[in-house]
Amino acid sequence: MQTPFPCTQCGCCCKQVFRSELTAYLDRGDGSCKYLSSDNTCSIYEDRPDICRVDLQYKVFFSTKMDWEDFVALNIKACNFLQNQI
Ligand code: SF4
Ligand code: SF4
Repeated sequence: MQTPFPCTQCGCCCKQVFRSELTAYLDRGDGSCKYLSSDNTCSIYEDRPDICRVDLQYKVFFSTKMDWEDFVALNIKACNFLQNQI
């Protein structure tokens, strides 16, 4: 069992969906996702898109290229970048 992705639920990724062509369609008009609640939770969490599922993205696209720990480290860098934009 792999360790869970250490998401702090800061919401910075969901507040900047405009930055990726894979998530831009979720933009409610101000750069944030239309499904982001005021408490930084996802209002459709159980039914969120595949692009929002870090475990699934790893399994489908990255598991043959790198191990989970390296994938997590790369994603944490992306989180830190996004956190520094707000
Ligand atoms: S930016 Fe990273 S830590 Fe913050 S909510 Fe998104 S995945 Fe979690
Ligand atoms: S669907 Fe949910 S998890 Fe995905 S960007 Fe929107 S609020 Fe975030």
